[in-house]
Amino acid sequence: MSYLFWSDPTWSLLLIGLLVGLIAQSAVNGAYNKYARVPSAAGFTGAEAARRVLDSNGLYDVAIEAVQGRLSDHYDPRARVLRLSSAVYGSSSLAALGIAVHEVGHALQHAQGYKPLALRSTLVPLASVGSSLSWPIFLLGLVLSIRPLLYVGIIAFALAVVFQLITLPVEFNASLRALTLLNDGGYLTQSEQAGTRKVLRAAAMTYVAAALASILQLLRLLMLAGGGRRRD
Ligand SMILES: [Zn+2]
Repeated sequence: MSYLFWSDPTWSLLLIGLLVGLIAQSAVNGAYNKYARVPSAAGFTGAEAARRVLDSNGLYDVAIEAVQGRLSDHYDPRARVLRLSSAVYGSSSLAALGIAVHEVGHALQHAQGYKPLALRSTLVPLASVGSSLSWPIFLLGLVLSIRPLLYVGIIAFALAVVFQLITLPVEFNASLRALTLLNDGGYLTQSEQAGTRKVLRAAAMTYVAAALASILQLLRLLMLAGGGRRRD
């Protein structure tokens, strides 16, 4: 058997990915906790601002719902529903407005046929199959020393990496839209926007961290496959 679990130095790649993810997560929690306590002067709640921005862009038929959970906010393109966590839904904080209108940004991307979002939606099934099958296939290839299986596992995982990468422009663009919409609509003052920007930037960094972690995992698979060849 060519694969020895405990003598595998590529574990450090996983640890780096994990660490970067934890740092990004704690940064977003910190920014959210801070700016969720700072009310905006205009006083619109997340749900009110989202409704007004949706309506002013002609998206009257996109519904807004409150959902359980912390930072569970998302736009569902299939149902065309904006789901806001209850804390964001009913709060007029700098954090709540940023998150609520970021989700409106996704609804606008969807309505306007923004290409990276469409591509991301197309990749969802492929990426989820890829990420769940990649390791079983790869390990089978490693244990049985069947090289083509290693490549199939790597390609399957690469689909998940592509998905993580295409998520980045989608998220950055939604946040840019949010800041512009909040500014243009008078929902936030100039000085308030700095706090909202920090929350959205920290949230975007969690996607960067996730993409980085998946690239490191892909690198690890390539190293393991290469190491197997040297020992053959
Ligand atoms: Zn988003």
